[in-house]
Amino acid sequence: MSERTGRDRRERIVVALGGNAIQRAHDHGTWAEAVRQVRRTARVLASLVGPARELIVTHGNGPQVGSLLREAELGAAEVPVPPMHVLDAETEGQLGYLIAGELEAALRRRGRPRTVLPIISRTEVSAADPAFRRPTKPVGRFYTAEEAQRRQRDAGWVMREDRARGGWRRLVPSPRPRRWLEGPAVRRILDAGLGDRCLFIVAGGGGIPVVRRGDGWVGVDAVIDKDRGAALVADALGAETLVVVTDVPGAAVGFRTARPRWLGKVPRAELARLARRGEFEEGSMGPKVEAGLTFLTGPRRRFAITDLGSLPKALAGRAGTRVWPRSAGPRARRARPK
Ligand code: ADP
Ligand code: MG
Repeated sequence: MSERTGRDRRERIVVALGGNAIQRAHDHGTWAEAVRQVRRTARVLASLVGPARELIVTHGNGPQVGSLLREAELGAAEVPVPPMHVLDAETEGQLGYLIAGELEAALRRRGRPRTVLPIISRTEVSAADPAFRRPTKPVGRFYTAEEAQRRQRDAGWVMREDRARGGWRRLVPSPRPRRWLEGPAVRRILDAGLGDRCLFIVAGGGGIPVVRRGDGWVGVDAVIDKDRGAALVADALGAETLVVVTDVPGAAVGFRTARPRWLGKVPRAELARLARRGEFEEGSMGPKVEAGLTFLTGPRRRFAITDLGSLPKALAGRAGTRVWPRSAGPRARRARPK
């Protein structure tokens, strides 16, 4: 979209939280675990907010949607199973509620109180997206071959075997996000300078996938990649900086080899070349790098991939895999007043 104009000189940073910021791999998925983990995350996020910086948070929802799907499946004899886009909305509510509460408390402790506003977000996808003809994203639990066959037959699910992990999983389409519907409204609020009073949590799980129908929108059974969603959010808000927070310190070259090389500061063209070479796996690091490359097509922008502990350093340009042009960011903007 466009850069911001006007008098607001705060650096606008979109932080995309990976699953690990909410629930760790070996967690059982209890509420208490999620609270503990999000509290840690909130502490770090709160330390970044200040007069010169404005944060917008977006987050994944994979494990949470998986749990809701399973819950629905187990309860199906008594309670109708909701469509997947409704489960997406539920996770935005559940995680928005959790992150908002912890972040508000952490900000208050830092002496930078903000009202944290989770926005139930919808993301437009195209009904003609080729992804609908070729589902690729595994969701939910593992099934035996017989169960998988039955679901393929009775519910029309697309199933794929995951040999390494011993089971079959349902695949759903992962269409490209085209537009974040609530984006312009959130942007107007922030551009009006209200970022010193409120902090938004947006497009959880990449947003609820919707397609145009008549005067409105209808949800579709699909999942949006949260990293692609984050690039869309950062662009829609005219952010200077997009940071993807995950469970590794950055992107590596030769990731599955004995000696992976972690990338630090890297030029955009080099990152693009490594992506084309297939260094970043599909469905995990690939979409993060893709999100960065998409975001970086705008002028004077910065992008980083980091883990939570290194996030403050990454934002200072001293950690993480980062495309960090010196001519980018808020200082450059100050040097070139409009
Ligand atoms: P998130 O929930 O943060 O989106 P993902 O599991 O989707 O987490 O992505 C992070 C994972 O990507 C890492 O844990 C790592 O296993 C995997 N990965 C794949 N390729 C690479 C790479 N080239 N460099 C670093 N990590 C990689
Ligand atoms: Mg991921």
